[in-house]
Amino acid sequence: MKSYDVAIIGLGTMGSFTALELARRQVSVAGLDQFVPPHHRGSHSGETRVFRMAYYEHPDYVPLAQRSGLLWDGLGQEFGTTLLTRSGMLSMGPEESEIIFGIRQSSRLHNLEVETLSAAEIRSRFPAFQPQDDFVGLLEKTAGWIDADASIQYALQQAKDLGAELILDNPVLGWECRENQLKVKTERENLIATKLIITAGAWANQVLRDLGLPLTVKRKVLAWFDPLQPEQFEEEKIPIFAFAPNLFYGFPNIGGRGVKVGEHLGGNLVHDLNLPVMPPSSEDLDSLVETASEVVPTLIGPPPGRDVRLLRTMTCLYTLTPDEHFIIDRHPRHQNVFFAAGFSGHGFKFAPVMAKALADLALDGTTTLPIDFLRLKGRFEKSRN
Ligand SMILES: Cc1cc2nc3c(=O)[nH]c(=O)nc-3n(C[C@H](O)[C@H](O)[C@H](O)COP(=O)(O)OP(=O)(O)OC[C@H]3O[C@@H](n4cnc5c(N)ncnc54)[C@H](O)[C@@H]3O)c2cc1C
Repeated sequence: MKSYDVAIIGLGTMGSFTALELARRQVSVAGLDQFVPPHHRGSHSGETRVFRMAYYEHPDYVPLAQRSGLLWDGLGQEFGTTLLTRSGMLSMGPEESEIIFGIRQSSRLHNLEVETLSAAEIRSRFPAFQPQDDFVGLLEKTAGWIDADASIQYALQQAKDLGAELILDNPVLGWECRENQLKVKTERENLIATKLIITAGAWANQVLRDLGLPLTVKRKVLAWFDPLQPEQFEEEKIPIFAFAPNLFYGFPNIGGRGVKVGEHLGGNLVHDLNLPVMPPSSEDLDSLVETASEVVPTLIGPPPGRDVRLLRTMTCLYTLTPDEHFIIDRHPRHQNVFFAAGFSGHGFKFAPVMAKALADLALDGTTTLPIDFLRLKGRFEKSRN
């Protein structure tokens, strides 16, 4: 049986970057995935991801996002491609909405530059956006979008070039800890490792069954439209956008391949991850189209705009914790097992920094990165009762 310093279960967003980080630190690493990442079956499908630092969810994410931004820029230079394009992001909602209140709080606490626009200023500067009169807009110019597929591809290729063994298309059936050694059982082979990192995304509760984490998985739908007025959605003309209250969001018409829109809130619960996820239906698009017609009316236009402008759709999975904050920690009962889970629909931007934290924990037992607020500790005791 082959043996490694570290094995990683799950080579999607977090696992691919963790494999790269460990390979750089010159330890022997085996990374395993049931599919061949990047793929469309987990949480990284949909081509692009938002990067932002003025974090409405909690100000403690800001230092991690800032560090991650530098890492994305550096990785892009190293790989000779742009992984993070800083197109800016405009968040719109009433002053008291969670998103506006939260961005203001984080930017004040961390001294981040965010420009405030009135509804009238938004409409005149970005005619594509038609917010209600009582909305304000907060423009974070250093936000942007990440090329999700390229990021995972590059991370895995680089990890492989540095000596990581990538075992793909091979589901892990289980793992056990015996005399301080980890045995990982897969469909095709077994292996032994001194340390184990679990980054299994939506499948975290299967791979970490013994922990009984309070995770729920939701199916999300994304849609790309060929804009009715393409000049209003060009990459150089508009930032990424998000509107309260459902956090309807969208990207510019990147590469002319369509304007991607989605909604952060909502989505159906997924009860059985062994069954194929239902493809997007006409009903799934109703809410997206309705909101789009109000706030970005020149995207789809009047009927039959929806049918003629729709380019493609895709599903993706959110893995939500009760407080919608990530969990990254050492396994409470196995000192050589570490995990990161429950990225709650906003984890991608943190992949390079989460990878550093996981590598620190696995190799040094501790990290200087400010992740304490994301530890498991007794965080979910109440939600279990
Ligand atoms: C629609 C949508 C939009 C999003 N938008 C943003 C955004 O704009 N910005 C942002 O920062 N984040 C965003 N996110 C969230 C972000 O994409 C996720 O938080 C992130 O991808 C989670 O990474 P992960 O590594 O946990 O999961 P994944 O990337 O899914 O990786 C998990 C991997 O584990 C593998 N695996 C699981 N079980 C096993 C097993 N038994 N054996 C072998 N392999 C296994 C899976 O095959 C998979 O490859 C979005 C998510 C969705 C769904």
